[in-house]
Amino acid sequence: MIYLDHGATTKVDPSVLEAMLPYLGDEYGNPNCLHTLGHNARRTVEEAREQVAEALGARPREVVFTGGGTESDNLALKGAARVLRERNNGNHIITSAIEHHAVLHAGYALEREGFDITYLPVDEDGVVSIESLRLALRDDTILVAIMHANNEIGTIEPIAELAAVAKEAGVVFHTDAVQTFGRMPTSVDELNVDLLSLSAHKIYGPKGVGALYVRRGVRLQPLVDGGGQERKLRSGTENVAGIVGLAATVQRMRTHAGEESKAIRALRDKLISSVLEKIPRARLTGHPTRRLDNSASFCFDYVEGESMLLLLDSLGIAASSASACTSGSLEPSHVLLAIGLPHEVAHGSLRLTLGKDNTEEEIDTVIEALPGIVTRLREMSPMVPAGSE
Ligand code: PLP
Repeated sequence: MIYLDHGATTKVDPSVLEAMLPYLGDEYGNPNCLHTLGHNARRTVEEAREQVAEALGARPREVVFTGGGTESDNLALKGAARVLRERNNGNHIITSAIEHHAVLHAGYALEREGFDITYLPVDEDGVVSIESLRLALRDDTILVAIMHANNEIGTIEPIAELAAVAKEAGVVFHTDAVQTFGRMPTSVDELNVDLLSLSAHKIYGPKGVGALYVRRGVRLQPLVDGGGQERKLRSGTENVAGIVGLAATVQRMRTHAGEESKAIRALRDKLISSVLEKIPRARLTGHPTRRLDNSASFCFDYVEGESMLLLLDSLGIAASSASACTSGSLEPSHVLLAIGLPHEVAHGSLRLTLGKDNTEEEIDTVIEALPGIVTRLREMSPMVPAGSE
């Protein structure tokens, strides 16, 4: 199989699996227990917290382990909004129209609780403008949430600049860094953020574990009540093996991400330029340069994304159309609509996301296969106007 869906998830690196295994075996202690097995587990969790904090340029106490990116986003938005409404007497939240559903749907839930949410538009490359944030801020704004990089089109947002605008107004700033953490610099001070969501499974770690960075002084209401773990912010016995996996993958990325990124970027550039050259009526979606190193996302006129996926899959090529969480639904992606693509074009989307194990040979195979697939689908399509091919 040629796996080009790393934006959806990645294979756990063998070194990460090896680090986790003892905690699924003999080291099965509950970190909240006072015996030696419990102590060992506690020490392991706290070491992992230090490692994740170090990667963020944060203090260990500012890292809350969660069940992944979705939970981190929900804890950040709902947790902060509910506290800030009481404290600051405001109920206005600003986010962007292209956020992951973990943020967007948390926003819809907050709207049902009476919060007022502004969804900032983006330009045709998917960039949120700093001026639009400035104009949207109001006296009753309590929270801004803008993602670091978009999972569908790869665009990287100017987070430090956006956060500076929010800071100037005294407003708490959250960023969803699920697609960037571990792969590009995510120092919380350089990004100037108060809250940051991250996840292990996009960077060769296990699924179902992540963290939320919470700057000292920012208060959150927990989503889950119980034994008061994670400084009362996330009750429940810690996922020790998962947390170890997260820390191990963070450490691995700190050593290898630079060189891996260089290789991935070179393959990605070859893929993009070849696809655009070989396939007529193809367009790159997302920013041409300010984009994730592994992301090649396109729209092809007169083609159904789902059909493309099936034909690619029949050749052993795993790809996706829009995000993993939305594929399967017939609605075109909210991200592609937000960058101004008409419905019929947005339906023809293809996202190829590369990873450290992809080879040039694999990319060549895809470059070889894709033009034929697109031609075949266009030949069958009733959408193609006569004489356009
Ligand atoms: N945010 C972004 C930008 C993502 O790409 C994803 C994963 O698809 C998530 C949040 C959700 O993360 P998780 O799968 O760890 O819940």
